[in-house]
Amino acid sequence: MSSERPPYQLHPVTVKRCQRVSPHMKRITIDGSCLSTLRLGLPAQWFKLFVPLGDDQRSNGRAYTVRSFDQATQELDIDLFLHGDSGPVSAWAERAQVGDGFEISDVHPRSGFSIDPATEHYLLFGDETALPAIGAILEALPAHAKAHVFAEVATPAERQELASPAALSATWLFREDNARASAMPLEAAARSAQIPAGVTAIWVAAESTEVAAIRKLLLKERGIDRANLHATGYWKRGEADHRDEEA
Ligand SMILES: Cc1cc2nc3c(=O)[nH]c(=O)nc-3n(C[C@H](O)[C@H](O)[C@H](O)COP(=O)(O)OP(=O)(O)OC[C@H]3O[C@@H](n4cnc5c(N)ncnc54)[C@H](O)[C@@H]3O)c2cc1C
Repeated sequence: MSSERPPYQLHPVTVKRCQRVSPHMKRITIDGSCLSTLRLGLPAQWFKLFVPLGDDQRSNGRAYTVRSFDQATQELDIDLFLHGDSGPVSAWAERAQVGDGFEISDVHPRSGFSIDPATEHYLLFGDETALPAIGAILEALPAHAKAHVFAEVATPAERQELASPAALSATWLFREDNARASAMPLEAAARSAQIPAGVTAIWVAAESTEVAAIRKLLLKERGIDRANLHATGYWKRGEADHRDEEA
């Protein structure tokens, strides 16, 4: 945590609206017109979000996804998972109200998931932190595609409505069903998932250790072509401000 400015431009923004998507997912709407590098129609772009800590201090930036951007109103939605008070962004988001100020960077120039019209099948694996990107990817898929989502959340109350022009099916995995603390429900799902014949893109984001296990499983045991796999650790258990090497 620091008061130093990072070596890129920050934009001051204000909370315009707040909404609970689920008990632990809070949607914050801002005016996104400051994001000049945002590429319309490209899902899963992300930026760094900085929250005030008092005494003119700000947190280090944490990565957050553009859940949606409305070109007509310039409104941009960010869905923040409330994982507890141990993280400055989660703690701030829990209490954030209309009118509160914070800062965001421009979107990362290499962020976003490009959709290849030749790809028939999509398998999307993720936990709560990945649901904003998964939601945006699903909404951007063409109608001829088929998508299956494997989503890991704590309880059934954390499920979200998912919508897509593509043929969509979803498997919700609940951590409360996994008695062992070390259980990795997404890895188990990746182990038994049917991988359709034909071009299949696989996108994975969740806790870093679990993503590393899934990456290894898909490449080494299930023979997935590296070019069709996009796997990123979005956070790491016990580590603040984690940066995945592929993020
Ligand atoms: C490219 C990218 C896009 C992302 N998009 C989103 C998004 O749209 N919405 C979103 O909610 N998150 C998203 N994340 C994840 C988010 O950046 C991290 O969860 C971040 O650590 C939260 O910051 P914090 O200040 O709350 O916690 P930190 O200070 O980073 O961590 C404090 C403690 O909380 C733990 N922690 C962090 N995240 C979680 C979690 N999810 N569950 C349980 N414990 C946790 C850490 O292990 C650490 O012990 C994204 C990450 C990446 C890399």
